[in-house]
Amino acid sequence: MLLLVPALADTARFRADDPDSLVIASLACPICLRSEQVRWEAVLDGYDPAVQCRCPDCGERWSVYLAPQQALRLSLIGAG
Ligand SMILES: [Zn+2]
Repeated sequence: MLLLVPALADTARFRADDPDSLVIASLACPICLRSEQVRWEAVLDGYDPAVQCRCPDCGERWSVYLAPQQALRLSLIGAG
């Protein structure tokens, strides 16, 4: 049986060559699954690049960890 407990520290699922919409969609809220309203801030200067996300709908906060290519990809979009 598959457990659908949301992970609050996830790893990003987009590829470096995905379009912006898919990159943003991969940052969707783990609770209500919305992505359009999610506020996110990339923390790209640490040893482990990550995105700090916040959902204005349910107030959830979570982190998404990035591979180096994903961090580079997100830096091209700019803060959401
Ligand atoms: Zn939410």
